[in-house]
Amino acid sequence: MDTHPARYWHALDDGRIQCDLCPRDCRLHEGQRGACFVRQRVDGKMVLTTYGRSSGFCIDPIEKKPLNHFYPGSSVFSFGTAGCNLACKFCQNWDISKSRDMDRLMDAASPVEIAKTAARHGCRSVAFTYNDPVIFAEYAIDTAIACHEHGIATVAVTAGYIHAEPRRDFYAVMDAANVDLKAFTEDFYVHQTGAHLAPVLDTLLYLHHETPVWVEITTLLIPGLNDSDAELTALSKWVANELGPDVPLHFTAFHPDYKLDQIPPTPPATLSRARQIARDAGLHYVYTGNVHDTDGGSTHCPSCGQVVIERDWYAILAYRLNASGACSACGHPVAGRFGEFSGAFGPRRVPVHIHAN
Ligand code: SF4
Repeated sequence: MDTHPARYWHALDDGRIQCDLCPRDCRLHEGQRGACFVRQRVDGKMVLTTYGRSSGFCIDPIEKKPLNHFYPGSSVFSFGTAGCNLACKFCQNWDISKSRDMDRLMDAASPVEIAKTAARHGCRSVAFTYNDPVIFAEYAIDTAIACHEHGIATVAVTAGYIHAEPRRDFYAVMDAANVDLKAFTEDFYVHQTGAHLAPVLDTLLYLHHETPVWVEITTLLIPGLNDSDAELTALSKWVANELGPDVPLHFTAFHPDYKLDQIPPTPPATLSRARQIARDAGLHYVYTGNVHDTDGGSTHCPSCGQVVIERDWYAILAYRLNASGACSACGHPVAGRFGEFSGAFGPRRVPVHIHAN
């Protein structure tokens, strides 16, 4: 088996070793794998079994991550591996995240090969996505370093379920993150994801207050499970009070999948209701996602109200910001990372193959 030495673990007095990467704190006997499946004890040490191996590479619009305030219209070179440290019953990517079949990992690539390929295709950034990059932290960190050496920005799409020490290392090399805030109750986290709410909130607080990482938040609304007015109000007020009004919040539509295939898709009216609740809580940038909703998908200037980026799903229909991200009508700065806008990549998805040496 092709493995890579893993960091973030220690030996226990009872002969097991404990993984210190995420709050699941897996304790392993020889040969056992953690709950994420990709970290394993081999010869008394922890190894990462997916270093350099991917479930596939694609070029996506950055809006798909979703990031609406991080170089809008740019293309992002996206990849993931296999496994996940959460166990969401509603997983929308379960064929990858729940994979126990390493043969799925067809594409192999070193960090430098990824950075060079992204640069060759004109991508502004590389995203660690599809499954949670926390569990392949060593591969993601090395790739992020290589990307920076090639002038490519880095994006983590994550549930934010990670311990403090690896969190520092991981986000020291990330430029942006979209963090899933899957709900705002401990009950939902425990029963629907197998995780806990508090560490996710800690990650959001850490990112916003202690790093320069650009952060956006996504909440997938599942009918009857996390979409009550009371929960959405509590979530929105927490974001506004603890992180401030300029952190973008995306409410996205659930589609029946995996173990929650008996629950209907999220009605568009639920997304609009959530958006109104969050705007009433004081948030400036609240979006609906996975639906055609031009108003809910567009960015409005928080000062004069002009639509500064008009979107339909992942397509940009109009762009009215200058290169530093100021509104063309009133000059008010829009929060985010911006540059010269020279047209949008558009709602395409371009598969790319990298072959190992
Ligand atoms: S990263 Fe994987 S092995 Fe480590 S504690 Fe989390 S689930 Fe367990």
